[in-house]
Amino acid sequence: MKTINDFNFKDKKALIRVDFNVPLNEQFEVTDDTRIVSAKPTIIKILEDGGSCVLMSHLGRPKGVDDTFSLRHIVDKVSEVIGVEVKFVDNCVGAEAEAAAKALQPGEVLLLENLRFHSEETAGDVAFAEGLSKLGDIYVNDAFGTAHRAHASTTIVAQFFPEHKCFGYLLAEEIESIEKVMKTGEKPVLAVLGGAKVSSKITIIENILDKVDHLIIGGGMTFTFIKAQGGSIGESICEDDKLDMALEILKNAKAKNVQVHIPVDVVAADSFSNDAATQIVDVTKIPDGWQGLDAGPKSLANFHDVVMQCKTILWNGPLGVFEMENFSKGTIALGNSIAEATKKGAFSLVGGGDSVAAVKQFGFEDKVSYVSTGGGAMLESLEGKTLPGIAAILE
Ligand code: AMP
Repeated sequence: MKTINDFNFKDKKALIRVDFNVPLNEQFEVTDDTRIVSAKPTIIKILEDGGSCVLMSHLGRPKGVDDTFSLRHIVDKVSEVIGVEVKFVDNCVGAEAEAAAKALQPGEVLLLENLRFHSEETAGDVAFAEGLSKLGDIYVNDAFGTAHRAHASTTIVAQFFPEHKCFGYLLAEEIESIEKVMKTGEKPVLAVLGGAKVSSKITIIENILDKVDHLIIGGGMTFTFIKAQGGSIGESICEDDKLDMALEILKNAKAKNVQVHIPVDVVAADSFSNDAATQIVDVTKIPDGWQGLDAGPKSLANFHDVVMQCKTILWNGPLGVFEMENFSKGTIALGNSIAEATKKGAFSLVGGGDSVAAVKQFGFEDKVSYVSTGGGAMLESLEGKTLPGIAAILE
């Protein structure tokens, strides 16, 4: 796996695909600079080598040129985070961009305008990718959040740098973290899969059964498994067309010697609301008119024991409707258990979909080993897919 450590960037221009798709408020101010901060180590290494950086990114989903989505809005923030005054050019390809890249001196940083102002970017257009390739000597991909897309800047452009392409620090760390769970992690390995639906996680579950010793299934998925086994789930969320699939998963897990842990009790509510009346009930005996919205205390105690036994932990998906305070306790308790296990030496990776939001909201970010920056890219990695942006560098 080639990373930026394999190159000396002295007098070289690095064309870096970063993920600066950051949230902006109505005044076009950056409200969360995590993604910019995450790209900093790669940029600094290149500048310290004596090279220069041409940064390319998308922002939002513009349809053509649209000032609302201009990366110009973030130039000051990037300058502040990197500690170098960042230059900006109004286009990401063409004469103007080429002239700006050419004028760049060692130690300087240039940010290109939003890649998605050109529909060729998401179409993976080869000629457009060739246009981008003219802006640098070495291609660096440091954008995990878009690594699952075969876009011009994330994948196609790599072919114009057959010997001069590599991963930035952030992307390399993402890949290593996933490998720790999927291949090289110390046993016992645990995956906690929560979230709303079995259907969105089924490919992950199937793939992960070959890698883990323990599987905790929580969140809304619980009830499809409980109903499949004959339990009464009241009005809880359930995918009736996935009942056979749930039984099949349990059968496969048994055959593969994976211990599956499902909530035994839940916090049931009489409506989908933070103000609903609640009671703790056996997960197989949820009364009519009630729905399970969080894991109950016995379940959390069981999960704590499992987490504490494991040396490698993957967490994807909340254990309950964490957006409502009254149903967030399960997710918080699980986060605390994983934090404790991490403190005792376990490797913990959190990522995919909503898990990152939950982890940030409850302040677990610094208490787990790694929080992935890519929602969809992480989910596809866990499904066992080779992401096109990663494959393009490895080829
Ligand atoms: P996902 O994107 O699949 O990880 O699902 C995350 C969503 O699952 C969150 O918005 C949670 O509110 C929701 N969720 C978790 N547990 C439940 C539950 N018991 N009933 C309904 N939704 C749930």
